[in-house]
Amino acid sequence: MKQTFDPSARIQDYLVFGEFGDVNPSITDSSTFTFMNPTRMKEVFDHEIEGCFLYSRHWNPINKDLARALAWMEDSEAAQVTASGMSAISCVILQLCHSGDEILSSRTIYGGTYALFKNFLPRLGITVKFVNMQDVDEVKKQITSKTRVLYTEAVSNPLLEVADLPELSKLAHGHGMKLVVDNTFSPMSISPIRLGADVVIHSMTKFINGTSDCVAGCICTTSELVHQLTDINEGACMLFGPVLDSYRAASILKNLHSLHIRVKQHSANALYMATELDKLGLRVHYPGLPGHPQHALMKTIMNWDFGFGGMLALDVEEEAKADELMTRMQEEKVGYLAVSLGYFKTLFSAPGHSTSSEIPEAERKRMGLSDGLVRVSVGLDNDIHRSFERIKKALIELKLVSV
Ligand SMILES: *Cc1c(COP(=O)(O)O)cnc(C)c1O
Repeated sequence: MKQTFDPSARIQDYLVFGEFGDVNPSITDSSTFTFMNPTRMKEVFDHEIEGCFLYSRHWNPINKDLARALAWMEDSEAAQVTASGMSAISCVILQLCHSGDEILSSRTIYGGTYALFKNFLPRLGITVKFVNMQDVDEVKKQITSKTRVLYTEAVSNPLLEVADLPELSKLAHGHGMKLVVDNTFSPMSISPIRLGADVVIHSMTKFINGTSDCVAGCICTTSELVHQLTDINEGACMLFGPVLDSYRAASILKNLHSLHIRVKQHSANALYMATELDKLGLRVHYPGLPGHPQHALMKTIMNWDFGFGGMLALDVEEEAKADELMTRMQEEKVGYLAVSLGYFKTLFSAPGHSTSSEIPEAERKRMGLSDGLVRVSVGLDNDIHRSFERIKKALIELKLVSV
C-alpha cells in the first residue's frame, strides 16, 4: 500500500518572504514588541491578532515561521515550538490532564518520558498505567472513565517497536481520549496525524535539527489545542515558559529543508547495516527487516520514500560485551559513544544503563530491553560498507561473531 502523502513536498512548498524579501526570515532579536497605541495592546491581550506580537514567551515571528513549517510537514492545523522535547511532552500532558485523570502509556518509551510519567505526574494526581501498546485488546481493558490520553512513540525507543496508529486512534476516539504520539524516531517516514493521531510531538534535538548543536521540541496539533497551550491565562507553554530561542528557531528552520535528504540517507544506511548484522546471525531490532514483528504493519503506514528510519538496536546480550563493542566502534572511528540520535555521524549507547536506566530492571526485562542492547543512530556515511566492515572487525575481535 503506497502512501500518497509527501511531507517533503510540503517543506518544498513552504516559502517565507522575510521582512526585506530575505529567503531566510529575519531572526527576531527582541523579547518584547512595541504598540503604536494602548488600545491595540489591549486587543492583543484579549485575543490573538494574526501578525501582532506581544512578548516572545508567547510568540515571536521566527518561532511562528518554524511552527508553521512543522505543522505543514505533519499535516496538522497548527504547531508550537518549545525549548526541548521534554517540555513539549510535559506541556501537552499538563494541558490535557487534570488531577484525577489517567494516562495509558506504552511501556517502551524514552527514559525521560518514563520518569516524568512514573515519578512526577503522580505528585499532581495524574496516574499513568504502562501497557504493551502492541496488544490493543489489553490496552482496551485498561481504559476507565478517567482515561484521557493514550500515549505512544510511533517507533519506540530503544526497541524500535512500531505502533499501530490507525487502530490506536480508533480506540482512543471511541472512548473520548486523545492519541498523543512522539514521532522523534520517524520524522517524514511516519505522518501520525494522517493516521489519526491528535497530537504529534518531536524532540527536534534529534533528526529534525540533525546537527546535535541544540535542544528543542515541537507540538503539532489542532489550532484549538495550540491556542489553549499558548493562552495567556491558562496555557501550559505560556505559563511554564519553555520558549525556544529565536536564534535556534532560525537554524532549525534552515536544517528542516534538508531533512528529507538526511532521512533517506539515514534510512538507507540503517537498512544496509541492519541487514548485514542480521546476516552475521546477530540479534538486530530494525523495522525494515522482514523478521521484525511489525515489519508488515510499518509497510502499511509508512511514507515509502523515506524508508524505515535511521535507528537500529543490536543485542549482544551482556553489558560487558556491549561496553567492549562500543569502545572498539569508537576506536575504529565508526562514530561516537554518545546518547542522542539523528546526528550526521553515527552515535551509539547502551540504553539499559543510560537513556532507559530510569526504567526499573524488572520492567526492562519484561519489555525485552536487555543489558547488552546497543542502540545505534546510523549516520550519513557515504560509504556505509566501509563503516560496516569496521564494526564487523570489532565483532570478530570480541568473538561476538565467528568467521
Ligand atoms: C530525546 C527524546 C525526547 C526528549 O527530548 P529532549 O529534546 O532531549 O528534551 C523525547 N522522546 C524521544 C523519543 C527522544 O528520543
